[in-house]
Amino acid sequence: MASPEGDKDKLNKLRSRFKEELPAKIADIEFCWINVLKNNSKESLHAMYRLVHDLSASGVALKYPQVSELARTIDVALLPVVEGEERIGDELKDVLDDYLKALSDLDLDDDPEVEVESSDQLLGSGYKLRTEDFLVYLLEADREISEDIADQVSHFGYRVEIFHSFIDLFTSLSDDRAPDVLVMSVNIPGVEITPAEAADQIRKISYNDLPVVFLSDNDDIEHRLMAARSGADAYFVKPIDVHEMIDQLDKLTGEEKVDPLHIVIVEDSATQSLYYSSILERAGMETSVINDPLEILTVMEEVSADMILMDMYMPKCSGMELAKVIRQFPAYASIPIVFLSAETQIERQLDAMSLGGDDFLTKPINPPHLIRSVAIRAERARILRTFMITDNLTGLLNHTRIKEQLMHEVSRAGRKKGVMTFAMIDIDHFKNVNDTHGHHVGDRVIKSLARVLQQRLRRSDYIGRYGGEEFAVVLPDADAELATRVLDEIRKNFGGIRQHSPKGDFAVTFSGGIATFPECKDATELALEADKALYVAKERGRNCIVKFSK
Ligand code: GH3
Ligand code: MG
Ligand code: MG
Ligand code: MG
Repeated sequence: MASPEGDKDKLNKLRSRFKEELPAKIADIEFCWINVLKNNSKESLHAMYRLVHDLSASGVALKYPQVSELARTIDVALLPVVEGEERIGDELKDVLDDYLKALSDLDLDDDPEVEVESSDQLLGSGYKLRTEDFLVYLLEADREISEDIADQVSHFGYRVEIFHSFIDLFTSLSDDRAPDVLVMSVNIPGVEITPAEAADQIRKISYNDLPVVFLSDNDDIEHRLMAARSGADAYFVKPIDVHEMIDQLDKLTGEEKVDPLHIVIVEDSATQSLYYSSILERAGMETSVINDPLEILTVMEEVSADMILMDMYMPKCSGMELAKVIRQFPAYASIPIVFLSAETQIERQLDAMSLGGDDFLTKPINPPHLIRSVAIRAERARILRTFMITDNLTGLLNHTRIKEQLMHEVSRAGRKKGVMTFAMIDIDHFKNVNDTHGHHVGDRVIKSLARVLQQRLRRSDYIGRYGGEEFAVVLPDADAELATRVLDEIRKNFGGIRQHSPKGDFAVTFSGGIATFPECKDATELALEADKALYVAKERGRNCIVKFSK
């Protein structure tokens, strides 16, 4: 199992190898440079550019900032020459000589050993609450109510601090750690100032845009109006509905973050692709650059692309042919493909579109135009995709999509000789919930399980609604032991949630079955074994997680 320690070892090994090899790399660059100056060799110029560019990238990855900065500077100075826009004059020659000298004079022992931060990729530490850092201050005089709210809200991953009086609250607000949301009851006995004034005060001494949620005993327009005027972000009437409260907290803390748009750039010219990717990345998008068109399928499998920006003319195959290949995969059918080309003939453009391209951008294209065209199309496509691949009730992946993702991750784990887990989850005695409390309450229970799964799993995990009250989870890089531990934690937590119903509150549990790769060899076997394990969990009395056993 990977660990932060293991990762640190790996990084430091790579760093020392880099350090050893650096003089040879610099010598190669200098060799090219001499050849450029002496023979005006175009080949050497391109080779030099590539070497410098790689050096800058490895400098960043291996945390040698001095190397990456110097290499980056040379890279930028060289780019116009590589693109044929500039010739190497005396001035540029001197500048490049200086930088190259600085590069070979670098003393890497000056760079300290690096610390590797634990990242979401690292096993074990990846499973943490996403909102673990969100702090909620709760002002509520009634001990029972306040503890109950705190308990329920914490099942969804928020940290809550309770205050029973304004004085307590005011004293704590001067602490270093400011809350992310303030939830305050407006019915605090013995208070001289109005809650609105209090909220105002609180905003002043903490910070201005602290979201404030009011809890009230009164459900009339006057009180609501007062709350709205005082700038309350939300208003709840007691007894509060925890699910609605969670929805609000998520909104106010911006927990529903959207991932940046991801654009795949297919372009044989390294310099042009670099140009496009730097423009799009500066506009906040993520990019994957493919210079060899035949690598497209591998990259498409690795990333979740929102759009493909495709050069028309490339060696090996044309952009149009490549578009046809991509359209052979149903999973990629909705990803827009936009061609980039100097092509101005309308007929060729129409040909390209009929072959599966969605639009055309004509080179040279100016940066604002590129950003706008890409963002609009990618955004629209993402919305459409979201409708197609997610389940209406929960927003989780739908059945087709989670099965696709399972196949995807199995083949990835196979290639990387890694591990992965597939889990099936089924709510216990759900029919009773529907029969006793009605379908509507049943739906709420399904949603709360979806919410808890999203909350507690890593961003790199995939969660799907398999059907009715059944869920499926794909956990890349997780072995049976880790998956069991994580799901068991979620199981306990979910069982502690009080489900609200007019017929009386109640609690619900679920059972889970897990199967792992490489013990199970493919997606079909994983699904089968997880289902069998789930059945065993039900047999054993439910509310437990069972590992497959072949
Ligand atoms: P077990 O512990 O063995 O899983 O028992 P169970 O009652 O959960 O299992 P069963 O499969 O007999 O019942 C599942 C019920 O889930 C039947 C169906 O009416 C209900 N159901 C399926 N989809 C939905 C839905 O979207 N909303 C609601 N409210 N109920 C649903
Ligand atoms: Mg080309
Ligand atoms: Mg079922
Ligand atoms: Mg069930």
